[in-house]
Amino acid sequence: MSSTYVMHRSLRNTPPVATRGKGVWLYDAGGNAWLDGSGGAAVSCLGHGHPAVIDAMHRQIDQLAYAHTGFFTTEPAETLAQRLVDDAPGDASHAYFVSGGSEAIEAALKMARQYFVEIGQPQRTHIIARRQSYHGNTLGALAVGGNEWRRQQFAPLLIDVAHVSPCYEYRDRHENETAEQYSQRLVRELEDTILKLGADKVIAFCAEPIVGATAGALPPTPGYFKGVREICDKYGILLIADEVMCGMGRTGTLYAVEQEDIVPDLITIAKGLGGGYQPIGAVVVQKRIADAMQKGTGFFQHGHTYIGHATACAAALAVQNVIRDENLLERVRQLSLVLQQELRERFSGHPHVGDIRGRGLFFGLELVKDRATKQVFDPALQLHARVKREAFARGLMVYPMGGTIDGRQGDHILLAPPFIITENEIDMLVQRLAAAIQAAI
Ligand code: PLP
Repeated sequence: MSSTYVMHRSLRNTPPVATRGKGVWLYDAGGNAWLDGSGGAAVSCLGHGHPAVIDAMHRQIDQLAYAHTGFFTTEPAETLAQRLVDDAPGDASHAYFVSGGSEAIEAALKMARQYFVEIGQPQRTHIIARRQSYHGNTLGALAVGGNEWRRQQFAPLLIDVAHVSPCYEYRDRHENETAEQYSQRLVRELEDTILKLGADKVIAFCAEPIVGATAGALPPTPGYFKGVREICDKYGILLIADEVMCGMGRTGTLYAVEQEDIVPDLITIAKGLGGGYQPIGAVVVQKRIADAMQKGTGFFQHGHTYIGHATACAAALAVQNVIRDENLLERVRQLSLVLQQELRERFSGHPHVGDIRGRGLFFGLELVKDRATKQVFDPALQLHARVKREAFARGLMVYPMGGTIDGRQGDHILLAPPFIITENEIDMLVQRLAAAIQAAI
């Protein structure tokens, strides 16, 4: 296609036209096939064309596609909210539906602020987040995120957010430090930041349990989130866990924080919630937050036209039903071992793969020029983008990321295949990725 009226991500290149999807495969009109090794951007947890989800959407559209939530609620919204709340850690009581991840973060930030206004602490005005993080592209979410490449030109429009160090063991743990000591050091840094801002001035600490889009599936070190939770409790600060990418089974448990054994006050979810069948996200809310709002003004001062969209909720409910009924969390845990083994066999000794990390079906490779010194590649090379291109040319989709964070350029490749991927397809994914990396460097 030579010209286009869609303003694509790139105004210079038009991507191929996707015409069909089935399982882990996407096709164009010419019959070219791509293995969806990243679920798009960790979205397509059930792959493409799942009949149960399509049936559920048909049934919902036949009955009622949409009813404005200023007038009505709907059965799929109610049933989905109950499911999310029942399965969430702690004493969750409500789910607030939105249309995607950035919207979920915006809603969580405003809900956290409103909570403190409701309970008589309006002096709390600060948000703390981490430098190596991505929370979305709307102005509030961009302010909370730490990716300078995405933030730079919009900086004058962003609210002031305090950023602390990420939990990035591969690069930042000192040699003479255990993983637990490293966790404690980071928690002390968070506490120092809270005290600097004023302990009674902070609304919330916002973090991805496993960092996705800025660091290629970066898991926390042991004790990190426990320590974070304790510090937040000590100063009455809310903890927002951003599970937009890592939630909904991607790491082998429905919520990634289950593996940290903590209860966040608010959890944001999106991508795997609707699995790409419909745009949907949510904030899962602990009861004490919802109670305070109910006793206070009695409503959440927020809202978009499409919140709680009936067809989106029906699609997400169907996705979540398939995950439960087909025991897909167990499948993710089993396939995780296969993926890890294949990645380690293929890349452990690779001169340019510095780190292989992740959980469940959420894995990242960090590419380095020199394994011994962890020296990064020249940013001008845009190696991550080259790997993406080379993989795409070989019929494989992987999610690349780079960008300057803490003044250092990283090249990361994120894998997040659908939960229905087979062992053979994992093998094919890793083989194609290896060929792409070789061709790119
Ligand atoms: N939060 C996290 C952790 C994400 O990874 C993303 C997207 O990659 C977002 C928020 C923003 O979600 P969306 O692109 O649906 O607005």
